[in-house]
Amino acid sequence: MIFTKRTMMTILTYFLLIFLIPATVVYFGVHTAVHNSGGNSLSFELRSEIFKKFGKPPYKIKSYIVAKDTVQEFELENYLVGVVAAEMPASFPEEALKAQAVVARTYIVSRTLADKGDVAEHKGAPICTNPAHCNAWKSTEDARTGWGNVADEYLAKVTKAVNDTKGQIILYNGKPISAVYYAMSGGSTENAADVWGGNVPYLKSVSSSFDKNAPNFSTTAEFTFDEFRNIITGENAKANLSGNPNSWIGAVSTSQGGGVTSIVIGGQAFKGTRLRTLFSLRSQNFTVEITDRVIFHVKGYGHGVGMSQWGCKFLAEGGKNYEEILKYYYTGVEIGAMPG
Ligand SMILES: [Zn+2]
Repeated sequence: MIFTKRTMMTILTYFLLIFLIPATVVYFGVHTAVHNSGGNSLSFELRSEIFKKFGKPPYKIKSYIVAKDTVQEFELENYLVGVVAAEMPASFPEEALKAQAVVARTYIVSRTLADKGDVAEHKGAPICTNPAHCNAWKSTEDARTGWGNVADEYLAKVTKAVNDTKGQIILYNGKPISAVYYAMSGGSTENAADVWGGNVPYLKSVSSSFDKNAPNFSTTAEFTFDEFRNIITGENAKANLSGNPNSWIGAVSTSQGGGVTSIVIGGQAFKGTRLRTLFSLRSQNFTVEITDRVIFHVKGYGHGVGMSQWGCKFLAEGGKNYEEILKYYYTGVEIGAMPG
């Protein structure tokens, strides 16, 4: 991507927001009410933009509810309870839930500020409830059903996480960031540039080694030689997989975060992210083993850029508060509060 810095950032931000946000995420559902605030105040320019798009507080948000095929209006803070409930287990520590709340709010605000009403998947709304597209969301009723006999406790916990961070968003150079996240890293987070291209100054690789304690941190995916050959040659017919399977895999390049950036297979180069998609791997952080079949050994779950949700949990358990967690995963950011 070779554009001016500003153009590139605009394009990249839009790209991240529309296509790449959550992907693989931990899970559940709700909604309720709010008060309280913290963080630095926003620039005059940003406050004006917020008022223009959201009106006066309490801010309202429209979301396309995929399950109901309808656009509904919510109070922003109420909607966030449903997002946090759907995106992170309510059993996680309060500070982790708060980090998730600020991340989700940042996404909604930046997405809404950029919205031109022209995203086909949104039926006119700035956001939707498809977790692969925007953020997952659950109604209070659905969340309660999922939580069973701890529904009161969990609803209160998630609501508190939203209330205690009311209006707070993550800023870089005074602008809301693309607050991307995923379930768990492969031990370090990824530079955005290594996964999607383009340089995003706050999406830098940092260690998240404690993620190895997350459930199913290491996984394998196995394919017969025929299955592997069909998938690879289906992607690139020039790949030569006719010979001894032990000779199929060539040079591998990895990123600072440990993910495969490029791997030569049958004489042809493939991107790690593309193999992740083709073979439904949990991440692009993998090695390949050839036995009587092809075995991918995979670490982590998700694209690896930005905040690790499981890392969030472990940092919170280690005594970090949500602001420290956010500043850990997003380099050089500040927390700001929307007016009201
Ligand atoms: Zn969407």
